[in-house]
Amino acid sequence: MSRPRQRGDTSQGYLHTKVIATLGPATESKEQLTRLIHAGVDVMRLNMAHASHKWVADVIWHIREVSTAIGRHVAIMMDVKGPEIRTGELETPFEFQMGDTFEFYTKRDPVGNEGDGAMTRIEVNYHELPADVEIGAIVLVDSGLIRLRVIEKDKTWIRCVALTPGVLGSRRHINLPGIRVNLPALTEKDRNDLAAGVAAGLDFVALSFVRQASDIAQLRKELKQLNCKAMIIAKIEDQAGVQNMRAIVDAADAIMVARGDLGIEIDYHKLPLVQTDLVKECRRAGKPVIIATHLLESMIDSPMPTRAEISDVSNAVREQVDAVMLSGETTTGKYPIESVEVMQNIIRSIEPSVNGQLNFELDLKEPKTKMLRSAAVLAQDLEQSGIVVFTRSGFLGYRLAALRAFGVPIFAFTDVETIFRQLMLPWGVEPFLMDFSDDPDVTIANALSCLKTQGWTSPGNWLVVITNALAHGKVIDTLQLRQVE
Ligand code: PEP
Repeated sequence: MSRPRQRGDTSQGYLHTKVIATLGPATESKEQLTRLIHAGVDVMRLNMAHASHKWVADVIWHIREVSTAIGRHVAIMMDVKGPEIRTGELETPFEFQMGDTFEFYTKRDPVGNEGDGAMTRIEVNYHELPADVEIGAIVLVDSGLIRLRVIEKDKTWIRCVALTPGVLGSRRHINLPGIRVNLPALTEKDRNDLAAGVAAGLDFVALSFVRQASDIAQLRKELKQLNCKAMIIAKIEDQAGVQNMRAIVDAADAIMVARGDLGIEIDYHKLPLVQTDLVKECRRAGKPVIIATHLLESMIDSPMPTRAEISDVSNAVREQVDAVMLSGETTTGKYPIESVEVMQNIIRSIEPSVNGQLNFELDLKEPKTKMLRSAAVLAQDLEQSGIVVFTRSGFLGYRLAALRAFGVPIFAFTDVETIFRQLMLPWGVEPFLMDFSDDPDVTIANALSCLKTQGWTSPGNWLVVITNALAHGKVIDTLQLRQVE
């Protein structure tokens, strides 16, 4: 089995921050998927704003195929759009000048496309748009690139004047900052997308515009009905999500700071403060946090990032986030593989400089999880060491990651395939899929031999092993110290 580029063995320093790449035309071929995995991508994201169900099935199949061929696996995240307002299809992009006027109409508009030929009319998917916006309100389209003011409205349409020149394409996203959009947390389209994703085999579902904890409960129920064990990532991207962040962090399995929309929906200059608050909430709750959007945006067209982007990624690494995410850079960008490499290079340079204190805010309730903190302290003290953990539910792997033991790789062994892939996301965890023996000693021996043959450890390295052991016929929790021979 070939060994692709890995995070490095315990003696060479180990990369903890994970990388997520969104797939699109620039990366969907088997050749590009292979290159992405070699470059060090941990999770691949499918953005359902732009994906057909056939594409989902094909691309997941191809990911699994190339992962098996390479011998390195990745997790798959399906990003469903939730309560998002979008414009409809346009035959050709509509170009306008500052001062031009046009209308957005809803499906309930009796005139629809056949309306006044002099006025450009564009469909929107949200019936209550005219009721929700006041005359004089600002409407933002396409990540805020297009700014419009509402000058007139009726029950089924709004007329806007353009405040900037621009071009409007099909299915562009509309933001109404501060307005609580009256759309369900999960739309009919989301339900259909989920069913297609579940059939193809996904590991994470990211839900857009999560506004309250009950949105997560609704998605959980839906996944249960589909008999799907995917973990839920709540995308925080509007004011309601920010206000309810604590309850949402507690309800979700992980959080995405979706800065594209968030930077439009809140005052842009407060975005770094909200990012830090979300990272802190996740640290408290021990939930993974992902920083998304515009990390290396200029690399869509340029082989080099801007200096500001390098600093932005570095800041995320210093904040000790679990993962950084690429969007346009890897969907349609000219330099998708280089973008992943740039991420890895920044992570490699910055991580050793982080003054990583163990996470003492994390409330470890059960005695066995309290043992994890002792394992982390011990492993850090030993230097050139790692932690080995055996987990069927993934819980111990996620908890260990949340402790943020800098310099200590977490080798998490599981015998459950979905859990194996879900362990790709949390900070510093390197997962392994392996059968467990009834005899804990045999399981440990197999794990240590796997680490050695795959080059993750070298003779002399210390490993702190968290495992069950048999003592006088009873199964007990133990923390063992082993030296690699
Ligand atoms: C974002 O808004 O930052 C984001 C990740 O969501 P989307 O790509 O769906 O706009």
